[in-house]
Amino acid sequence: QAKHKGKSSYAHFAPEMTEVSHERLQMESRMRRALELNEFELNFQPIVHTDSGNLCSVEALLRWNNPTMGTVMPDRFIPLAEETGLIIPIGEWVLEEACKTAVSWKEITGRDVGISVNVSPRQFRDPGFTDIVMRALSNSGLAANQLELEITERLILDNSIETAEILRQLDRAGIRLSVDDFGTGYSALSYLKSYPFDTLKIDKSFVQDVMKEPEDASLVRAIINMAHSLGLRVIAEGVEEEAQTHFLKQEGCDFSQGYFYSRPLPARDFESWLKTNQRVQI
Ligand code: C2E
Ligand code: MG
Ligand code: MG
Ligand code: MG
Repeated sequence: QAKHKGKSSYAHFAPEMTEVSHERLQMESRMRRALELNEFELNFQPIVHTDSGNLCSVEALLRWNNPTMGTVMPDRFIPLAEETGLIIPIGEWVLEEACKTAVSWKEITGRDVGISVNVSPRQFRDPGFTDIVMRALSNSGLAANQLELEITERLILDNSIETAEILRQLDRAGIRLSVDDFGTGYSALSYLKSYPFDTLKIDKSFVQDVMKEPEDASLVRAIINMAHSLGLRVIAEGVEEEAQTHFLKQEGCDFSQGYFYSRPLPARDFESWLKTNQRVQI
């Protein structure tokens, strides 16, 4: 195809592509050194009980602080980490760090606080994954039921025997499992009854407009009712305004997360947040 387009279009596209792949290569080589240079950092965002606003658990969100690129957000580097397989050592670091940090909060709160960690497909399918998870628990002393792994629909929908078996292993170990970004996949709802999930996280794209779009309000209501009738707990993501919290309370949404309560914060700032928001409910 390309050769019929002639020289001019070739000359036009070639430099752009080179630029893109150069950028990728540069980012990849920076990422390879990032772990040993300690450039990764976790931010923490509270997940609260919708009714009381009390803290329930915390989601760990990865940041990459690179001297040249500044703070890089996960949407910009996780895809490349997945493609290169670097997500496996990076993900291991996240699990270790998240579990240790969660244990350290007990001194402030006086009780156990759960931690949610995002897991990407490549990481989940790595044969060493369950060992890595179990090691993070034993190294930190975190109880299995304090750890929740967030998995996206994309991964579940591959329908493989391996996926099912790993989910069951993690469930048997007492680890909690949640479906992240619920509603953005292909909605093959049957997986909800065959896999041992505990929680659905309603994607923020639905939550954002519940006060403006009646259709979004209906969808959120329907997801909450469906989840409850399947025995699952529900978290609304992306709660930014007080009006949304009233709606979610009214609809019986168990938990909420979003800028309205707190932005994701670096460990130090999150500790201060904990100290001034002592009420912890499990
Ligand atoms: P996610 O797991 O769905 O995380 C929620 C995202 O929504 C976070 O973006 C969070 O900062 C953002 N958020 C929270 N509250 C609000 C709100 O009220 N309004 C809006 N507009 N956004 C809100 P972030 O931190 O940029 O992370 C993006 C995605 O990157 C995550 O989506 C998750 O899929 C992935 N990710 C983050 N950390 C990790 C990690 O350690 N490992 C892996 N594999 N993926 C990660
Ligand atoms: Mg998540
Ligand atoms: Mg379970
Ligand atoms: Mg999400």
